[in-house]
Amino acid sequence: MTAVPEKAKAAALPSVDRALAHPVVAELVATYGHQETVAALRRVLGEARDALRDENAAIPGIETIAGACRQRVLARARPSQRRVFNLTGTVLHTNLGRAVLPQEAVDAVLDVMAYPSNLEFEVEKGSRGERDAHVEQLICELTGAEAACVVNNNAGAVLLLLNTFAEGKEVIVSRGELIEIGGAFRIPDIMRRANCRLVEVGTTNRTHPKDYEAAIGESTALIMRVHASNYAIQGFTAAVPERTLMDIAHKRKIPFVIDLGAGTLVDLERYGLPHEPTPREAINSGGDLVSFSGDKLLGGPQCGIIVGHDDLIKPINKNPLKRALRLDKVRLAALEAVLRLYRDPDTLPQKLPTLRLLTRRKDDIRALAQRLLPTVTTRLAGVAEVSIGECKSQIGSGSLPVELLDSASLVLSPVKGQGKRPSGADIDRLAAAFRALPVPVIGRVHEGALHFDLRCLEDEAGFVAQLSELAL
Ligand SMILES: *Cc1c(COP(=O)(O)O)cnc(C)c1O
Repeated sequence: MTAVPEKAKAAALPSVDRALAHPVVAELVATYGHQETVAALRRVLGEARDALRDENAAIPGIETIAGACRQRVLARARPSQRRVFNLTGTVLHTNLGRAVLPQEAVDAVLDVMAYPSNLEFEVEKGSRGERDAHVEQLICELTGAEAACVVNNNAGAVLLLLNTFAEGKEVIVSRGELIEIGGAFRIPDIMRRANCRLVEVGTTNRTHPKDYEAAIGESTALIMRVHASNYAIQGFTAAVPERTLMDIAHKRKIPFVIDLGAGTLVDLERYGLPHEPTPREAINSGGDLVSFSGDKLLGGPQCGIIVGHDDLIKPINKNPLKRALRLDKVRLAALEAVLRLYRDPDTLPQKLPTLRLLTRRKDDIRALAQRLLPTVTTRLAGVAEVSIGECKSQIGSGSLPVELLDSASLVLSPVKGQGKRPSGADIDRLAAAFRALPVPVIGRVHEGALHFDLRCLEDEAGFVAQLSELAL
């Protein structure tokens, strides 16, 4: 055996000081700092030393050490939350950040992030102001409400209004509306946390006015309707109209509240989309308070909006929980910019990404698929066959659960020689390669193929440019 003893080999590794003098490492120090670079170097040298326990291992040169150090530093410097291509076919994908914000909102947040702002200050009077005032008028204008307030999300809005009006009391909800929304939001659980007692009435499919009337007692504080946003009950069903619920509630002098869920501010039918109830309709049909999300169909930042009577919004604002759930200046600026776009419904489908993507025509998506087909086919030659498929996009986030939108996709089927069927592992490997790209491409695996629904692909050039980096 002529192998060099482990200790002698370890001694031949470059020292930290020598490695720091290497131009690649020196550049890392300049960009990422001394501490970060030295820590990476120590790790890399430690791993190299461990590897030398194998007596056949060669001693890595300074270039190898510098290269490994660079990879380590760059990997640590990469932001954890980053951009992806959402080709899943779900437009408002909760795991992929729901609504994409318009440029107007991006521009608006830059200033308030980088400079002090009049968040809670009335510039003209020179006195203290209210943060919600930046959006309250706009929300009232767009919904017809008397007053409005905004909080962290719609889950927070529901928690807040239950806690404000029904703490230690009872809230009546139909059994058909005891919903669960992804991510642990369940009406019965939120009731408990708001310190309210849930009184269930009716059955899963049918609830009648007499069910509500019979349930009202001394300690009833609210009647609540929860919009069935992520499912549909069909067939032999009966729900009590909102007007009737309002009458039943008002006879006993208690408020009637509606959790609308998605809550778009315009009639979507105007743009050829299925109808979704608006806050304005919910107010007109009797809701004293109506809550909805800012980052579902509305297409804004994550937030929850409560609209309704001024004398009901006031106590909400006085609840200490409101302080805990309030919106920060960045999201307020984004929300304000998004709401302003609603003042011109004609340009909304161009300017608001959520509506732009939802109204994208199948022919346009198909034309995009045809443009991409040759490039993607060439890139995947020998690995996967590519074809154009018909598919249905989902709106997502529980909005309009039964309505699907006609769309087109690229269908990638891994090729296996001699008539062998591609295995799940082949498809997973292909999907992983697309996810490993600088801007990860997220598709959907279905029936032995990887599907890219192109409805949400707007940066066509960016998608094509990074295909050359695909590691197959
Ligand atoms: C989505 C939804 C919620 C929760 O809203 P977030 O903004 O996600 O917190 C509550 N209720 C209904 C009916 C919903 O659809």
